[in-house]
Amino acid sequence: MEVDRDNCTGCGYCLLTCPAEAIESDGWASIDQERCTMCGLCPAVCPNDAILSEIPRQEPRRDYEPEYDVVVIGAGIGGLMTAAALAKKGRRVGVFEKLPFIGGRYTEIDYRGYAVTTAAWTSLGPKSNIGEFLEKVDAHVDYVSLRDKGCDQQFSIRFKDGREFSSLPAMLSRQDWRAYVRALVRGRKLDLRDASTREYIEEYLSNDDLMATVNAVAATASGVDIDHFPASEFIVITRDTARAGLDFSCTVGGVRAIIQALEKVVTSHGGQVFTCREVSQVLLEEGKATGIRLKNGDCIEAETVVHNGGIGRFVKLVGPQNLPADYLASAEGLVPVDCAAIILGTTEPLLTEVPMLMTPGTDRVVGVIAPTLFDSSVAPPGRHMLDVFLPLSSDDRTHELELAMGDLRALFPNLDDVQDMMVPMFFTGAWTGAETGQTLGQVGDLRLDPKSPIPNLYLVGMDAVGSGAAGDLIPVGVRRLLDYLS
Ligand SMILES: Cc1cc2nc3c(=O)[nH]c(=O)nc-3n(C[C@H](O)[C@H](O)[C@H](O)COP(=O)(O)OP(=O)(O)OC[C@H]3O[C@@H](n4cnc5c(N)ncnc54)[C@H](O)[C@@H]3O)c2cc1C
Repeated sequence: MEVDRDNCTGCGYCLLTCPAEAIESDGWASIDQERCTMCGLCPAVCPNDAILSEIPRQEPRRDYEPEYDVVVIGAGIGGLMTAAALAKKGRRVGVFEKLPFIGGRYTEIDYRGYAVTTAAWTSLGPKSNIGEFLEKVDAHVDYVSLRDKGCDQQFSIRFKDGREFSSLPAMLSRQDWRAYVRALVRGRKLDLRDASTREYIEEYLSNDDLMATVNAVAATASGVDIDHFPASEFIVITRDTARAGLDFSCTVGGVRAIIQALEKVVTSHGGQVFTCREVSQVLLEEGKATGIRLKNGDCIEAETVVHNGGIGRFVKLVGPQNLPADYLASAEGLVPVDCAAIILGTTEPLLTEVPMLMTPGTDRVVGVIAPTLFDSSVAPPGRHMLDVFLPLSSDDRTHELELAMGDLRALFPNLDDVQDMMVPMFFTGAWTGAETGQTLGQVGDLRLDPKSPIPNLYLVGMDAVGSGAAGDLIPVGVRRLLDYLS
């Protein structure tokens, strides 16, 4: 068993899954050959086939139908939302997922008793695009909100120099707070897609601490800094988080509760969800999509094919020769967002008042989240979890990790005394934070339309049209796709 360093994007799913704890990561996974039991799990959970193994993979049962009304490629949250809505409308839906688990970057893997997210940690709660979509398709989840936990703010602010504020209004003068609110409220009526967040807010006030905090908020929500994050998008995020208010929540049991609820809707309406089924090709006849071919060679027919595996894989599965040059050019021109998370388990809680901390002015870390402050069941009894988010500034993941750990030790001086586990997770290359960033020139409606240039073939997920905080933009594209198909 060996890691192909060139293909390892650093996500850490192998490390989280290895029952022998034989895998470590400093940004790239490495396998301790003495501890490895050759169980064959790590090659299966690698999204990028970066683990080279001589163990033959077991061929799963061929228990799928020869044809469906709709096939969905990939069981990320976008694919499952689409499948749930279409199954509920009576369409015969089959979802085909490459990995041995569903949810993609929106679920958890159990590791030493901690439910470690594969990327996302919250849906924002019932008053979010995701929350409202779940309600619409009758996908039932339970929430724990800020209000339930007696919190009166969404986030507090801590600078590396030790200054700490319970909220933005507590940090700003009355005059600056008013100017900032004015900027946000007026911005709702303006077309600000071409203005960067920094440019726009600086029209209203000049305050370095505020700009650093706005940068931390924008980067935590999207991985993009305020010089590249369009003001229009920042305003959507502040509007959506204001709408969530103290109903800002986590789902009980982690984000996988959302994935399980969506899967239940699909299967209870006769749909099928298959794991370990990689799609190798979208089948075309006379320029129209007619189905898919699986990696094992089986072909499955469908009236409609929906792709949820990212634009890069979309181009590969369709074949660049089958796509119009202008579409290919726009796909190739998309700016991917590389970022990383550090998951920490601790013996003492590092955040106690509010579950989110914005950390402006650090070297790398922009936001820290404590999922256990919402729901203690996502860690072993007596343990606590922190999810640390950082955008990346270089390809040297080991150096990025060192800088982030330096930030964390400054922000939490007792970190080394209370640390119980640490997992670095990088989202780069073929498994980015988002293949299509919410950057200037590719935001909102400028992102890819769910309707592809090929009839009967659609695209959902984090690359399709939408605005909002991270994964909360995905339902916007899914809803548009559902309109096309209705
Ligand atoms: C560090 C980090 C933190 C984040 N935090 C949050 C958060 O708190 N809240 C939030 O809402 N969002 C968050 N996000 C964003 C969120 O994780 C993503 O936007 C979302 O999970 C993307 O979902 P998706 O449906 O587009 O696809 P993905 O999750 O990428 O799923 C695509 C699926 O398709 C499968 N697939 C690909 N190719 C094939 C193939 N050929 N055959 C079969 N299957 C295939 C993949 O295996 C995968 O399971 C975060 C992202 C990162 C990186």
